Amino acid sequence: MKKLSNYINGDFSSPINNKYIENYSPTNGCVYSLIPDSDEKDVDMAISAAKKSFESWGKSTKEYRYQWMMKLADAIDKNAEELVMAESFDNGKPEWLARAVDIPRCSANIRFFATAILHFDSDSHDMDGGALNYTLKQPIGVAGCISPWNLPLYLLTWKIAPALAAGNTVVAKPSEITPYTAYLFSKICHDIDFPPGVINIVHGYGDTAGDAVVKKCDIISFTGGTETGKIIAINAASQFKKYSLELGGKNPMVIFEDCDFDLAVETAIKAAFLNQGQICLCGSRIFIEDSIYPKFRAAFLKQTKCLRVGDPKNKSSNLGAIVSKQHLENILDKINIAEKDGGKIIIGGKRVFLDGDLADGYYMLPTVIENTKNTDEINQREVFGPVATILPFRDEKEVVKMCNEVKYGLSASIFCNNISKAHRMAASIDAGVVWINTWLLRDLRIPFGGMKHSGVGREGGEHSLDFFTETKNVCVKIENGGNK
Ligand code: NDP
Repeated sequence: MKKLSNYINGDFSSPINNKYIENYSPTNGCVYSLIPDSDEKDVDMAISAAKKSFESWGKSTKEYRYQWMMKLADAIDKNAEELVMAESFDNGKPEWLARAVDIPRCSANIRFFATAILHFDSDSHDMDGGALNYTLKQPIGVAGCISPWNLPLYLLTWKIAPALAAGNTVVAKPSEITPYTAYLFSKICHDIDFPPGVINIVHGYGDTAGDAVVKKCDIISFTGGTETGKIIAINAASQFKKYSLELGGKNPMVIFEDCDFDLAVETAIKAAFLNQGQICLCGSRIFIEDSIYPKFRAAFLKQTKCLRVGDPKNKSSNLGAIVSKQHLENILDKINIAEKDGGKIIIGGKRVFLDGDLADGYYMLPTVIENTKNTDEINQREVFGPVATILPFRDEKEVVKMCNEVKYGLSASIFCNNISKAHRMAASIDAGVVWINTWLLRDLRIPFGGMKHSGVGREGGEHSLDFFTETKNVCVKIENGGNK
């Protein structure tokens, strides 16, 4: 059985306690590798390597960091197909999705921040009476990067890239549920002789390895669930560390009667079920203006019925496997609760058993539920699976209230061809990211993040670079009040 290693100081190492965790492929329910069950001691080793390498990386030129990061991005592209297959096997997502989205985004993340740092500038404030303030943006030290399982290497590189570009070194802990591409990434770093100790990857559970990363690194960037985010916020805040949290969502799709109907249906399908509904931005509450509710319901169901759940290797599979057995059971439990609360499952709601080698994989049907109240648990708690509810609404006021009647505030999509109404809605909905007549259209420069229980801080472009740097103001008094 393949044993994965930690990557510390440019070398591969076994966990000091010699304990391993079984790594399952959700595609077939089989254990196919073992990953280090690292603890505080491994994290200590990684942090000490990262601290040492910070002495040089933190003082290096932007051009130097740019060159190394571009080399890393090129090496990811060269190994793209291996990463695609590994991501799909480890996570359950269709290979076509990993090939179209996940893996290209890894090298794109790295290239984006490698070039962004070359253009990152800072402020200067000229004072009346002869003084000048200028702002330094300095790297902080060792960045702890903790990522979830849904977009494994995509989200890990989204954190590592700005941290490195800004001059920090990194200790990263990928999700123990999907560790494999992070391991392949460390092999790529090793193969290109990336400066040792600048990127360190420690595998293991969140409450051991992850906890040590949070308590011992200088700055924490976390993406994951809201409950975990709470623990991380407490641990980081008690040491006055900078932290950024990208957390869960319960995102509304709002469909008005004057929308481009076909576009709205097609986008709502994608938003509900892409990546088996396991994207923090998925639109899981679909609000439809009551005048078009029957028409939308029929079209949405018709398209949901056409979605194929199947072998992630097949191009024709729209949905692959759910990431783990436990997660599949959680999703089915939440559907049961929705039914007990009076919800009606109009399609799906069941596990699917594929044939042959995939018979023990964790597959389920895309599920649509109606007849729910917005206050029901199914509309209040994140399901993070291929499950959407459809609810009618009367008018703008009512739908805004329903959109905002949740603890989350990550994203929202509005389908509407009345410009003023769309802008009013965008301004009124509690969400860090609002799309109008689209979904998941991303520009890496935009501020990305959530309100309320969906997060703290913003990632993307200069927001990430700001986060990963300490801002220092220098005030210079100029002799003779600055007069010639
Ligand atoms: P979790 O919160 O369970 O885990 C995220 C990461 O944190 C994992 O690496 C986990 O390790 C680690 N972790 C767990 N406990 C601790 C701890 N006490 N200290 C430090 N680290 C810890 O999230 P999931 O992996 O289940 O991911 C799904 C969630 O992520 C969903 O809620 C989703 O909405 C959210 N998400 C948010 C995004 C955003 O941008 N807002 C984007 C993508 C996902 P381990 O795996 O061992 O538990």
